[in-house]
Amino acid sequence: LGKALNSALRKLARSSTVDEALIREVVRDIQRALIQSDVNVRLVLQLTKRIQERALNEKPPAGVSPREHVIKIVYEELTKLLGKEAVPLEIREKPTILLTVGIQGSGKTTTIAKLARHLQKRGYKVGLVCTDTWRPGAYYQLKQLVEPYNIEVFGDPGEKDAIKLAREGVEYFKDKGVDVIIVDTAGRHKEESGLIEEMKQISEAIKPHEVILVIDGTIGQQAYHQALAFKEATPIGSIIVTKLDGSAKGGGALSAVAATGAPIKFIGVGEKIDDLEPFDPKRFVSRLLGLGDIQGLLEKIEELQKEQEFKEEDVEKFLRGKFNLKDMYAQLEAMQKMGPLKQILQMIPGLGYSLPDEAVRVGEEKLRRYRIIMDSMTEEELENPDIINYSRIKRIARGSGTSTREVRELLAQYNQMRKMFKNLDKRKLAKMAKKF
Ligand code: GDP
Ligand code: MG
Repeated sequence: LGKALNSALRKLARSSTVDEALIREVVRDIQRALIQSDVNVRLVLQLTKRIQERALNEKPPAGVSPREHVIKIVYEELTKLLGKEAVPLEIREKPTILLTVGIQGSGKTTTIAKLARHLQKRGYKVGLVCTDTWRPGAYYQLKQLVEPYNIEVFGDPGEKDAIKLAREGVEYFKDKGVDVIIVDTAGRHKEESGLIEEMKQISEAIKPHEVILVIDGTIGQQAYHQALAFKEATPIGSIIVTKLDGSAKGGGALSAVAATGAPIKFIGVGEKIDDLEPFDPKRFVSRLLGLGDIQGLLEKIEELQKEQEFKEEDVEKFLRGKFNLKDMYAQLEAMQKMGPLKQILQMIPGLGYSLPDEAVRVGEEKLRRYRIIMDSMTEEELENPDIINYSRIKRIARGSGTSTREVRELLAQYNQMRKMFKNLDKRKLAKMAKKF
């Protein structure tokens, strides 16, 4: 997927304007890429429809390239499915019973050992139940994996009744007072309907707090239907995707999420007991798209968007031609912090207007004096400073404990700034503002 998508996005990178035909082409490429990556076809169509709509209708913030903008939209649509943040596995009740399901070879047994160790490291006492009556040696496989960590496994290689084993195992660990009981199950390739029925019965027998679907990250399009089949047997509470240590992009896992509506909580990244990681949607999407630092890109876009909101508000105010003392104060205050006004004016290309620094920047002490003076003004005076005549100046100076000279200075600054805004070519400004 990574390669295909990257080439699609490179097309966008080469063009500086967002052209409708190009967006459509890129969206088609994304579509193809997601399908190649084993994301369910219907899901891909839904996703790409939304991506296309948004890419065509939403304008990228200033400073964000069309390519970055489309990546962001793709990311947002994917995380709508996956969730923006990881959902942790919660152990609320004692004991919390977890049931793992999934087809044979998906990595259930390995994952259970990893999960047991993960929980043990966090201070939980864990008991494991093997109900796999199908695979010879299933019990020993699990036992061997956790033996070095003194995690107990309940099972009976001679027993053929998986439901009985599940029930007895849970009772056994309840008596032992463990915090978490994890039940391992069998998975059979050919007899899927039989497997599903067994899951259903085990689930009804032990009433787990959470059923965890273990999905092999390397499987293709079947992931969607597999997940659906398990969901019919028992409500899926969460997903663990295994084998993401290789080159698999995990598109199948995305389909499983869509099929079950359950969040991915962990991913398996190797055969060893510590090769289990909490799921990170951002990293997963980066991987799915074959892109590098998506986190950095998202942060950049967010930052630019914030700036832009600020700018739009300011530009609008200028355009309305309204600029009173309160506006001036807000501008001076903002300017003191970060100089946005000057930035705004400078960012409007072709405006040919450069603001003299001293006209818009005042010191902290002066700003404080302005505040004091303005506190003695009436609302009417703040809104419409033109009415401030000499007798009002005297009153304001007295009320604020300042001097008439200082009040006049404030008014002079106001008039200077207002004149500057008046002189701006508003039509040009409006045209440029639209381009933001
Ligand atoms: P089960 O049949 O679902 O219980 O699957 P197993 O736990 O027996 O795993 C099947 C195979 O997948 C074993 O060889 C595991 O070592 C391997 N496996 C499981 N999880 C991972 C993983 O995250 N990465 C890799 N590389 N191999 C894994
Ligand atoms: Mg197994």
